[in-house]
Amino acid sequence: MATILDGNAVRLQILEGLKPRIAAVTAKGRPPGLAVVLVGNDPGSEIYVRNKVKTCGEMGIFSEKITPPATISTDEMLALVAQLNSRDDIDGILVQMPLPSHVDSRRVLESVAADKDADGFHPTNVGHLVANRPAPRACTPAGIIEMLKRYEIPIAGKHAVVVGRSDIVGKPMALMLLHESATVTICHSKTSDLPAECRRADILVAAIGRAAMIRAEHIRPGATVIDVGMNRLFTAEEAASAGRSEQFAKKGTALVGDVLPADMERLSSAYTPVPGGVGPLTIAMLMANTVALAEKHLC
Ligand code: NAP
Repeated sequence: MATILDGNAVRLQILEGLKPRIAAVTAKGRPPGLAVVLVGNDPGSEIYVRNKVKTCGEMGIFSEKITPPATISTDEMLALVAQLNSRDDIDGILVQMPLPSHVDSRRVLESVAADKDADGFHPTNVGHLVANRPAPRACTPAGIIEMLKRYEIPIAGKHAVVVGRSDIVGKPMALMLLHESATVTICHSKTSDLPAECRRADILVAAIGRAAMIRAEHIRPGATVIDVGMNRLFTAEEAASAGRSEQFAKKGTALVGDVLPADMERLSSAYTPVPGGVGPLTIAMLMANTVALAEKHLC
């Protein structure tokens, strides 16, 4: 029987570990502070931001939600971030992506002060990641490393294969696994024999954004499989091919990761379910980044 890597349980452990650190920061004069900037009315982004603000409230972290209209210009966004950069009560700034297409997202993200970069996306912090120096880390891959460690899944000397090379998941994931002394392969849409590469993995991370694309032919029996994907299915056919017909019949839509659940459950030695695997870790690591930044600002 494969071990189910329970993201909700690990999330609670991470948050529990932050409580004394938040109390210590607060005792020095003020709680850690996070500003979340949500532009426009994208329903998906609104849910993410609501959960982030709610978790801050539960943890005793001060949070401020700023909601400029979708018509905001790049210059106005830069001015808004500059004002947050200068505030003493704000330790971390998160600009929820995606921004409207007329806004220069790269300029906005790079305008967040590196020592207030709660998401770990600033080029300075990406450089620190490459050099394995302390700095805010991208939350989703950092959460996956926490999960592997807390389940005592060996990483050093193992072969890790990361499918996906995005700046927010695939690339930082590969670097973090490398720093844990895994031998790392990064795959992407031009990889010539994806199943063969994936079958070399002791630890297989799927961060693709394609419903149930990774199947039995990609999974070495006994591998640990981390499924980062979150794909919403809107037709009965898609749901059936992802093994989610039952969920679809009940709800009219279905959620599936990048890995076919039945094959992952049958072949792996440990896996993250969708939902309830990687998802809960991301916000926990955002809280961890915010607390670490506050400790730095107040020491
Ligand atoms: P992304 O920026 O779209 O990157 C997807 C990556 O997958 C790209 O590097 C792409 O390769 C690769 N890819 C696409 N098709 C492929 C194929 N047929 N074979 C091999 N590689 C392929 O996505 P992302 O932001 O990294 O997110 C990936 C998934 O994780 C999404 O489902 C997203 O919703 C989910 N996610 C979940 C969380 C969470 O907290 N649970 C957080 C972030 C993301 P190329 O570079 O060659 O195009």
